Amino acid sequence: MAFLNDYPTLNKFLERYPDLDGLVNDEVTFMQMDIDGSGSDVLCTLRTQYPDLAKYNINDLYYGFRALCGKHKGSNKRSQVWDRGSVILKYGSHLTWAARIDEVAPRIVASVNLARKILSEMRSRLGAVSPEVVVAILEYHFGFEREKDESASLEDVRRRFETLHKSLLSTICIACMVTGKQKKGGVRGYVNWENKEKYKAKADSRKLFSPYKTFGTIMDEEAGKEVEVAWGNIHIDFGVFATETNWTDLAQAGLIIHEASHKFLNTDDYAYCDEGEKYINLSKNLKLKNADSYAYAAISLYAHELIKDDKGKQVRMG
Ligand SMILES: [Zn+2]
Repeated sequence: MAFLNDYPTLNKFLERYPDLDGLVNDEVTFMQMDIDGSGSDVLCTLRTQYPDLAKYNINDLYYGFRALCGKHKGSNKRSQVWDRGSVILKYGSHLTWAARIDEVAPRIVASVNLARKILSEMRSRLGAVSPEVVVAILEYHFGFEREKDESASLEDVRRRFETLHKSLLSTICIACMVTGKQKKGGVRGYVNWENKEKYKAKADSRKLFSPYKTFGTIMDEEAGKEVEVAWGNIHIDFGVFATETNWTDLAQAGLIIHEASHKFLNTDDYAYCDEGEKYINLSKNLKLKNADSYAYAAISLYAHELIKDDKGKQVRMG
């Protein structure tokens, strides 16, 4: 008995399960779930909670939910998805990109894969035979000092790049940027966060947790202190990957690394690389928590040259 035969519309489904209305409105999206992995936990919980749903096999349930959500207009959550296993793109309500998804999607996937490749090489690149370039990169982007023994900080950077690499190897969901949501002009991506306790309380009350949330701490400027947060999806401007873009492959991969560092390394935007003095003068401590520092250090190390901006292309990473 196919799920969609029983519930061809979301409304029909919600008549039967009214308290799941919030679920399809929530950040917990069925579209994000990796049916082969731990993502199916959410559906298993749902089947336990609602025994009527147990009659559907898990794949049927998964694709059924996705179809139901996708048929609704609105935000990304109910939108169409482009799914190639290790990269899932959400774009449905963004009509421009929905129409051009076959053009941009392969480019975004290629960029994620280049970011994965770059990050896979960080350990060996940091131990390069010709150390002068590496020293210059670490000095510029992470505030290392030549005269000092920086071996502990170097190990720290290595570990963070490894964390980033491992995190990016799992299935990653990338949503189209919602225009106007970004705080600063020129930003091409962002990752939202919410208070971890609030997220947990919300998820607890529904007995559903998104397997794709990540947790960490970040400086909350309004609260003036570090807070525990739940990170949402990476959002990027799909225009960066359009045919007419002037972004280089490296800059595109750098954007992915920049956003991934927010989600997986709890970085913030203390300064962007194209802000010159402001960026250069950041303390080492802040550079180690700064998203652009990871993005530019990674692409510099990969290219084996110190890259200070996007080579004059006047584009800013998110
Ligand atoms: Zn950022």
